[in-house]
Amino acid sequence: MSQSLLNSAKERLGEAIKHIAISDDTLERLAYPKSTLKVSIPVRMDNGDMRVFSGYRVKYDDSRGPTKGGIRYHPNVSSDEVESLAFWMTFKCAVLNLPFGGGKGGITVDPKPLSKFELERLSRGYIDAIADFIGPNVDIPAPDVYTNQMIMGWMMDQYGVIKRQIVPDVITGKPISMGGSQGRETATAMGAFISIQTLMEGENHDPASTTVAIQGFGNAGSILAELLYNAGYKVVAVSDSKGGIFKGDGLDIPSVKYFKESTRKLEAVYCEGTVCNIVEHENITNEELLTLDVDLLIPSALENQITERNADDIRAKRIFEVANGPVTPEADKILEEKGIPVAPDILVNAGGVTVSYYEWAQNRKGLYWTADEINERLKKKMVQETTKTLAISEEKSVSLRTAAYIHALGRLNEAVKAKGTKDYYVNDRR
Ligand code: NAD
Repeated sequence: MSQSLLNSAKERLGEAIKHIAISDDTLERLAYPKSTLKVSIPVRMDNGDMRVFSGYRVKYDDSRGPTKGGIRYHPNVSSDEVESLAFWMTFKCAVLNLPFGGGKGGITVDPKPLSKFELERLSRGYIDAIADFIGPNVDIPAPDVYTNQMIMGWMMDQYGVIKRQIVPDVITGKPISMGGSQGRETATAMGAFISIQTLMEGENHDPASTTVAIQGFGNAGSILAELLYNAGYKVVAVSDSKGGIFKGDGLDIPSVKYFKESTRKLEAVYCEGTVCNIVEHENITNEELLTLDVDLLIPSALENQITERNADDIRAKRIFEVANGPVTPEADKILEEKGIPVAPDILVNAGGVTVSYYEWAQNRKGLYWTADEINERLKKKMVQETTKTLAISEEKSVSLRTAAYIHALGRLNEAVKAKGTKDYYVNDRR
């Protein structure tokens, strides 16, 4: 049987602790999620049927602050997946030095066939079920795969109905008109873009001759594709859950984005009338996209996409993980042997939670920043923590992933030690 996603996620710590002195207390604390809530959400469907959906909310660790993490709607959502995502959030918030621990949530559902009414009832039902578990000082959700601003707005509204007050800081990624932040929708992609630029700075790369393949064309993937396209990169392939498209000398990303937004498809759009002429492309599968001979491969969809099964076939020169957990530990080893550097999720995609932190802080103050102020703060933070991670990687001759875990573990260890460890209680070291 393959190991659980959480055990696989925890494997990353093994390498990091060889390079940093960590209290046993910290490791023991990080071995288990603080709490995992499973709920059943009854929803009246439009045809009158009653359906019950399973939902989860996990607080992995709150040593550094209230837990923070998105809510995913996907048929594969399980307690194992949500616990793993909450584990990654714990480290991501520590890498970026945000005053948060790690959390995550999800509902096991394919949201695509649901009507808007059903989706709203499901989202409000989820909040009814987890309202006692979340809160602005306890656990603050945000969007993730197949959830968006409007869903966050429904959820904030429902929380307010239960608490009989407006509580904007209970959830981030809300519409701006409901207390959301400028720059939140673009934050994950913007953070990834800054991280890519920072990590490749010393290499004198020329965007015009740098080819890019992006798996996943949702919030993170499509906005990053556009940022890279606007900066002159050659984005040669993109994909969504139904398949991908390829064009050797670069896709016209604004047109791809426009058609995807208006038809919800990448491929069907191209085969009707004049549209075929506007966006030239070849159809490819997701598997083919991952093994393209490109400079940058950017998985931006789901976990476990590059595994021991296909790692040997990867031909990209570098990988940037925008999705959470797209490369398994087994694949990491193969890629390292092949000399393909992987920039890890807990650093590269941390722009989203960073601007979520700014949203939460603005809600608490009741003062709001402009898009320029947000993006300036985001840039400063991403450059700072990416540079520190790179320095650890060079100083200790470890992968960027191990460096990011070392960086995060140091901060988590400080927080655990601040409340006293065995050294303090038994060995009388004050
Ligand atoms: P999204 O729902 O907006 O988009 C997901 C995209 O992935 C869609 O284009 C979908 O068609 C595609 N997809 C789904 N299954 C696929 C498959 N099997 N093969 C190829 N493509 C597939 O989600 P998102 O918010 O962009 O999140 C994408 C990834 O980024 C997730 O791993 C998420 O956890 C991570 N992430 C998101 C944020 C955020 O703020 N949205 C922050 C950090 C990390």
